[in-house]
Parts: sequence; C-alpha cells; structure tokens
Amino acid sequence: MTLLEVAGLDVFHADLQAVFGLDFTVAEREAVALVGANGAGKTTFLRALVGLIDSKRGSVRFDGGDIVDMPAERIARLGLGMVPEGRMLFDTLTIEENLLMGRVSQRPGAWTLKRVYDLFPALQERRNHMPRQLSGGQQQMVAIGRALMCNPRLLLCDEISLGLAPVMVEQIYGAFADIRSEGTALVLVEQDVKRAASASDRIYCLLKGRVSLSARAGEVGLAELTHAYFGM
Ligand code: ATP
Repeated sequence: MTLLEVAGLDVFHADLQAVFGLDFTVAEREAVALVGANGAGKTTFLRALVGLIDSKRGSVRFDGGDIVDMPAERIARLGLGMVPEGRMLFDTLTIEENLLMGRVSQRPGAWTLKRVYDLFPALQERRNHMPRQLSGGQQQMVAIGRALMCNPRLLLCDEISLGLAPVMVEQIYGAFADIRSEGTALVLVEQDVKRAASASDRIYCLLKGRVSLSARAGEVGLAELTHAYFGM
C-alpha cells in the first residue's frame, strides 16, 4: 500500500522556486533513496513534506490523508518523522534528555528508550553525557534515536552519513535493517549514491528541483545515473 504520495509539488523559498512539479511515492515498509547534487532541492523537499516550509502547492497525501497544509506537529503525530541535516541536537540537554524529546508526539509503538539503547548501545553508556562529548557518528545515532522515539511510520533521513567515519556509516546503515523490521519505511537522502542505493528498494534522482530519474535501485546503470545526477 502507498504510504506517501506526492503529486505535482512546487516548493518556494520566498521568490525562488526550488522544487518543480515533483511526483514521489513511498510504499509501506519500503526504503527509497533520494539523491542529487548540492542544491538539487532534496532538503527543501523533505522540509516541505514535514510542514517546515509553508510556501508550496500541489498534493501531499500520507496514509491516504491530505497533509500539504498541515502544521508540523500534526504531521509528526501522524507518523511522518525526519532526521534533519546537521542533526540539530539540543546542546544543553543530555543524550537521554535529547532522546526523550522525541516522545512529544506521544505516538504508541515499538520504539522506547530501551529499544533505542538496544539499537545503539553506545548511547546507553553515554546517556548522561552532553552531545558535544560524543563523536559525530554517535551524535547522528542520537538524532536517529530521537526521531524513532516518535514511532514514525515513515522516517526521512537527510544526509546522515555526511562527514562521518566509514565505520560509523556502516553501523548506522546496519541499524536500518532493524528499523525496517519494525515496519518503518525510510527515505534516505544522500550524496553518496552507492551507499543510499544499496540500502534501498527504489531510487529517485533530483536535478535542479525536478525528478531526473526514478527506478528500482538494482536496475539503474552508472551512465544513466550520472546523466540524471549531473545533467550531462
Ligand atoms: P545540499 O545537498 O547542498 O543540502 P539540496 O539538494 O538539499 O542540497 P536544497 O538545500 O534544498 O538542496 O536547496 C535547493 C535550492 O534552494 C538551492 O538553490 C538553494 O540555494 C535554495 N535554498 C535552500 N534553502 C534556502 C533558504 N532558506 N532560502 C533561500 N534559498 C534557499
């Protein structure tokens, strides 16, 4: 069943249009990669989906209901969550307090503090530390854990591997199998196309705010992808 269905979405930053007529779907329990060069519109698209950008038009349906004009808190309560680019942790709160902030939507489900600590044991050991005392990869785990505490049905992950050591990227991508096994669908925004595609069922590429490619992840060739990514 289709969980997210976007049709003809335009998104604007004041006078600048960043996303043009986007069509995009995610099925229940599916993982979808969204790739594209710097400035292609990936972050703008994700932020518009979760209600953090108002200036948009088109259709966004989540679980059958129209959410295009809904405020961000209501969208989160429906189970559409995001791990934002740059993590956006609360610097003055401990790791555990950061995780507990994710409970604000009060959605019931499998993801509890204990379940997040099972997924990322390094966080339990550092539960009373402050975010700045953690490595970049561990901070990313906190951001993912906080989003999971909302028990999302669909989790949008914005460039979670950016700037992390390869071993950390491995660990985080390893956790996605567990996350999916709880029934959570994923959208993985990445500049690392190979990494995102290998963890996904389908792939979309954005070029200058438009979908330049949509394919099953295993069926797209390098030349086709390079053309879609760079437009050359
Ligand atoms: P990156 O990989 O660099 O994060 P991206 O694919 O996520 O890129 P966006 O950040 O969505 O792309 O940017 C899309 C376009 O919108 C770019 O032209 C960018 O300059 C512009 N843009 C993004 N955020 C804003 C903003 N807050 N105000 C004005 N323009 C913006």
